[in-house]
Amino acid sequence: MSPIRVTVWNEFRHEKSDPKVAALYPEGIHGAIAKFLGAQGFETRTATLDEPEHGLTSEVLRNTDVLTWWGHMAHGAVQDEIVNRVYARVMEGMGLIVLHSGHMSKIFTKLMGTTCDLKWREIGEKERVHVIEPGHPIAQGLGESFEIPHAEMYGERFDIPAPDTLVFISWFQGGEVFRSGCCYHRGAGKVFYFRPGHETFPVYYQAEVQRVLTNAVRWAAPVAGPKITFGHRPQPVEHVEAYQG
Ligand code: ZN
Repeated sequence: MSPIRVTVWNEFRHEKSDPKVAALYPEGIHGAIAKFLGAQGFETRTATLDEPEHGLTSEVLRNTDVLTWWGHMAHGAVQDEIVNRVYARVMEGMGLIVLHSGHMSKIFTKLMGTTCDLKWREIGEKERVHVIEPGHPIAQGLGESFEIPHAEMYGERFDIPAPDTLVFISWFQGGEVFRSGCCYHRGAGKVFYFRPGHETFPVYYQAEVQRVLTNAVRWAAPVAGPKITFGHRPQPVEHVEAYQG
């Protein structure tokens, strides 16, 4: 079986403007994510905002099974034409994994149809991520819960449609809770939102987080399902005589 082809997208702005982020992710957040996914046997490539067409040409997307999306400070700089292109590929069956502050990206809000807004606080408090669907493929290999020692808090209400499957709920030291692992089907594609991943904490180096994203890539990869068609059907599937009335 040929390897799953993953494109790791990052707006790649914090790393250029904030020395703390640059020190934490010297090859960019995309570099760190592509590295551990590549080590799992996926065929990975990266793409960033400042490349032509944000690195997401039609050819790149055609050859992408799963796209991961990290954005935060420059959601508005993503061209609508590229957003529509990514959206069309999701409808065709490409998987999309939206990370952390990607909740406000154009592609995620378009796919959800809601504001996707939430509460937040940045004091480096503890987060406990609870697995609430132990039989889900994205939970494979995890314990009942895992801890992120220092995290940015995201709190409910998270203005999303109810997920098809909710895999994780986070609790924060400050008392808030959050739906932090949300699965959706959109067209023939699968979408997974995963909350952890703030740029000033080493979240993407954590084994449990890497495990979740590895599992999510496998879950979100396209399946060889039927090609769906729409429109007028003068020829019935079964033999049936037209009513002569
Ligand atoms: Zn953040």
